[in-house]
Formats: sequence, C-alpha cells, structure tokens
Amino acid sequence: MADEDKDKNDYVHDVYIQKRILDEIEQRCKNNKYEIIGMLVGNAYKHKGKEYVLINGFLFSALIEGSAIFTQVIDGAVGEMSVMKEKEHPGSIIVGWWHSHPNLGVFLSSVDIKTMEMFNKGFHVALVVDPIRNERAFFKIDDEKHYHYVSYAVLREKK
Ligand SMILES: [Zn+2]
Repeated sequence: MADEDKDKNDYVHDVYIQKRILDEIEQRCKNNKYEIIGMLVGNAYKHKGKEYVLINGFLFSALIEGSAIFTQVIDGAVGEMSVMKEKEHPGSIIVGWWHSHPNLGVFLSSVDIKTMEMFNKGFHVALVVDPIRNERAFFKIDDEKHYHYVSYAVLREKK
C-alpha cells in the first residue's frame, strides 16, 4: 500500500496503458502464431521534465500479419496506419509500436532496434509481447542504440 501511494505521488512511469487496450493487443498476439505488429496510439505528456505516454488505442495492420521480415514492409504500413489513425483516433498521435515474439522472450532484436529509428521521439516506446511465455515489456532505446526496459502502469478504468 505504501508503495502504491508513493507511486501515485512521486513517481511517473514512462508508460500508462489502458487495460482494455493491452488485453486486446495480447489477445491478438495469442491468436497468431507468427510475429504480428502494430502501432500504439495515445498522447505524450511531460511531468517535471519527464516525458511519458498514455496509450488509449492501437492500430493493427493486416498488411504485415504473418510476415517474418516486416521491416521491409513497415514503411508502407506506417503510411497506411497513419491514415487509419486519423480516421479512428482523431486528436491522438502515434506514441510507439508493438509486436509479438512468439516463444522468443521479450527483448529488442537488432531488427527491432533498426525499426526504432522510425520512432525517434523521446517518448516513443516499443511494446513486445510473448504470448506463449506470457511475458511483456515496454522498451526505449538510448543514443547508443541500446534498449532499456521502461516502467509502465496498467490503468483499469477508462481515463
Ligand atoms: Zn522483435
């Protein structure tokens, strides 16, 4: 309890995500034995100099479903998904991306780190889900292109 209070008062996570959104992403990952990928939608904020994001939506591209080498198609997909964002989530921005690692564990591969170059804002995060091992993590990369786990909180209520 004390820890929870401390969290609320002093600590700002890098990521806040609505449970409904996380559940939907993880369900999609479970339903697909291949790596799947999409965008995280929401807004970015700053608190005492620290940037964080609130994720309240996601995009999923059928275009890249099942593709093992999705970096080759992600460029096109980013364009396609930007159009979807405007339609489905007006007023929101792309705050990162998500993809699955079926039975691989959660980390960013060298390909994923390359993909992060397209998400080069300070607040951009990557969510990796392993639906078989039941693992998930959010990552950011630093200037040296090393990835780091970032802290997140799951919001049970809307807003
Ligand atoms: Zn990956």
